[in-house]
Amino acid sequence: MELDQKVVQLVGRAYEGSRAFRERMDGVGLTPDDIGGVEDLRKLPVLKKDTLIDLQKKDPPFGGLLAVEPQSLARIFLSPGPIFDPQGCDGDYWRWKEALEVGGVAKGDVVLNTFSYHLTPAGFMFDGALRALGAVVVPTGTGNTEQQVMVAKRLGATGFVGTPSFLYAILKKAGEMGYGPGDLSLRVAFVSAEKLPESLRDTFETGWEIKTRQGYGTADVGAVAFECDEKEGMHVSQGVIVEILDPNTGEPLPAGETGEVVVTLLDPSYPLVRFGTGDLSQWMEGPCICGREAPRISGILGRVGDAVKVRGMFVHGHQIRELTNIYPHIKALQCVVTRVGHRDQLTFRVALARPVAPEVLQEFRERVRERIKVKVDHLELVDEGEIENEPLFLDLRKWE
Ligand SMILES: [Zn+2]
Repeated sequence: MELDQKVVQLVGRAYEGSRAFRERMDGVGLTPDDIGGVEDLRKLPVLKKDTLIDLQKKDPPFGGLLAVEPQSLARIFLSPGPIFDPQGCDGDYWRWKEALEVGGVAKGDVVLNTFSYHLTPAGFMFDGALRALGAVVVPTGTGNTEQQVMVAKRLGATGFVGTPSFLYAILKKAGEMGYGPGDLSLRVAFVSAEKLPESLRDTFETGWEIKTRQGYGTADVGAVAFECDEKEGMHVSQGVIVEILDPNTGEPLPAGETGEVVVTLLDPSYPLVRFGTGDLSQWMEGPCICGREAPRISGILGRVGDAVKVRGMFVHGHQIRELTNIYPHIKALQCVVTRVGHRDQLTFRVALARPVAPEVLQEFRERVRERIKVKVDHLELVDEGEIENEPLFLDLRKWE
């Protein structure tokens, strides 16, 4: 089916079944008759991630967006925001199979899936795609590098799925345990949720002979783009329409200019239409040597506005502000993200209104971890003057 036809069908069915989508259309005076194809989607304003958070808060669990009965869902996840994410059916619901296949994962591969299976959808996203591909999944989840190495060794695992920094941690541990490239059977890795520096890819590909490709997606929409063998940007996945818009004017941008990645999920049961991911990227010029027609975006170049990604998890400004409201003795706070080796480090610089016992700060750190799902590596006490006029997030990572 032509993309224009798919859009017409998406809008028609979403308007019929999804209360929030209908209200969004009505709010700007549109009916399904006004949307005749991809171009007409631009008549609808972008759905911001924060708007989705608000919608779900006011009208739980899915903000009136879901166009099917909640009882028909396979799973429900909770990703940071907080946002509830529905999984409509088992199998390759988030369409990662295409990305994995192009990345070199094949039927019969035994793959460590190191994404979390807990609350956030990443673990199940790749589990379903790997199974659809005919790969054998070892759902190791996050953490415990020594056990990951043992499992990889004894099972003769051939594939890895997870963040690049976690693959690095596992290989480093393998080295400490006396294993070299010839001792493990790993031959292919698909990484996501974090930036993949070329130096790190080289460590995997040259140092450990693990072919490494990356993909980009979100907890809300699943697969958005993936690398081919040319490793020059990422092709847009099937099942989504991608736009890159000027964050200030909302106008589409030409190749080479940085703007917000806005995604339309071609799934009428959960119509995320023109969903603003908050991620920044660019269109790449011209066709790819590989011959695929799907256009390419460059890697993710940052975040629009008030959020930062640490070790694969988004940390939002409003989460930090809500936490500091609970602790009145914290007068000002700044989150600094650095990179040591191949691991993100999160430092909180805190200015106190009055001295407090170390236990209070420890409790605060634990509350933060519970809330944002990322551990604060360092807590630094500073004078208020040092941070009061500084941005909430300071990203000092270098990627070369
Ligand atoms: Zn290509």
